[in-house]
Amino acid sequence: MTATDTIVAVATAAGRGGVGIVRLSGPDAAAIAARIAGTLPAPRTAAYRRFRDRNGATLDSGLVLQFVAPQSFTGETVVEFQGHGSPQALQLLVAEACAHGARPARAGEFSERAFLNGRIDLAQAEAIADLIDASTAEAARAAQRSLDGEFSKRVHAAAERLIELRMFVEGALDFSDEDVDWLADRGLAERVAEARTALAELLVQAEQGRRLRDGYTVALTGQPNVGKSTLLNRLAGADVAIVTDIAGTTRDVLRENLDLRGLPVTLVDTAGLRDGGDAIEREGMRRARLALEQAELALFIVDARSGISAEDRMLIDALPAALPRLIVHNKADLASSTASLPGNDAVAISAATGAGIDALIAEIHRRAGLRVGEAGLFSARGRHLDALRRAQALLDAAAERLDERVLPELAAEDLRRALDALGEITGAFSSEDLLGRIFASFCIGK
Ligand code: GDP
Ligand code: ZN
Repeated sequence: MTATDTIVAVATAAGRGGVGIVRLSGPDAAAIAARIAGTLPAPRTAAYRRFRDRNGATLDSGLVLQFVAPQSFTGETVVEFQGHGSPQALQLLVAEACAHGARPARAGEFSERAFLNGRIDLAQAEAIADLIDASTAEAARAAQRSLDGEFSKRVHAAAERLIELRMFVEGALDFSDEDVDWLADRGLAERVAEARTALAELLVQAEQGRRLRDGYTVALTGQPNVGKSTLLNRLAGADVAIVTDIAGTTRDVLRENLDLRGLPVTLVDTAGLRDGGDAIEREGMRRARLALEQAELALFIVDARSGISAEDRMLIDALPAALPRLIVHNKADLASSTASLPGNDAVAISAATGAGIDALIAEIHRRAGLRVGEAGLFSARGRHLDALRRAQALLDAAAERLDERVLPELAAEDLRRALDALGEITGAFSSEDLLGRIFASFCIGK
């Protein structure tokens, strides 16, 4: 699968910068670049050149370097112009390359070529985009690990177990006429158990990776004046919400994207839930309800001095039924030591003093499925989880058939399909349609 055309794009971020890079990839990359920069330096060495248009006018000046196929990111010959980070000059360079026969790259096309040429697999290509888009340092580190092939390696390891299992089952089917009951072999049950464990562990890790990539939406809710805005400010570390003593101040829904110890969290401060009020307040209420429906966790704030009141209870019961909730007893600094301690599903904090905030953050991590302090996480996407869950369901189905010795031929087929599902993650088995959708979501120049 070798592309015959040469693509070009600005590889650095839109906007001004000290340095801007234009990247060419394809069979004519070196020839086109030589028309612009004159003779090119030896591969993998940089040389200072003037970049000129067809009339000899200087467009920019800077470094040029080439990577000869297949030793490059895309597996094709790649040339990079490192000019000044002027959006105008960079566009002129792209236009000049196009005048010499290159064409503008589509979104994600460099990564797509790297994938098609076998330089990286699909999960790694996605990790490039996830690294660029990472919203916390932890998410960036996880994406880097996926880019290094950490996730793919574990997918391969799980696939290896499924392959062994499948070979065992197919072998057993071949001998099924003879006296030996291969399916009764103790080794089979062990293999099934091992494959199941491997997939289950991978799924737990991938779920955490997906969480780091996609973040977690947490709604702050509770009666007016319990300290929602104060808590939002405490978690954000900046004064982002108006805090006053007058009930019902937070009229609109306020969203903050936070880096909560590595977990990207969208914190939504809903208007103090309260019936009645004027039109604006009712509109605020409507938006608050909507925000709650989209949240993944509700922090229901109560006043630690009174604990959960009858009114709180009503509001808690009115939360979307499927929405997980955590009761937060705030203003613990004002509560007497004899005040009733929060139960299992609750934490006590003081948004004003910061007491208990560490425990609250740890609990949010736990609810998000992140194991605190877990090292070596890799990034993953919803589509990976979906493929892993399908593989798991097929393995379970196969295990059941093998256990009951019912239609073991179908067990072999289930295992084959489970392997295909795993293959979708790394792209060993994926439709063009899927590939198109994945790469189209990248930005140009990637
Ligand atoms: P909201 O209506 O739920 O958003 O409540 P606010 O955040 O606006 O807080 C209402 C009042 O309670 C303000 O005067 C805050 O300073 C105060 N407050 C909030 N949290 C605490 C706390 O932990 N301790 C104390 N002593 N006061 C708090
Ligand atoms: Zn508020």
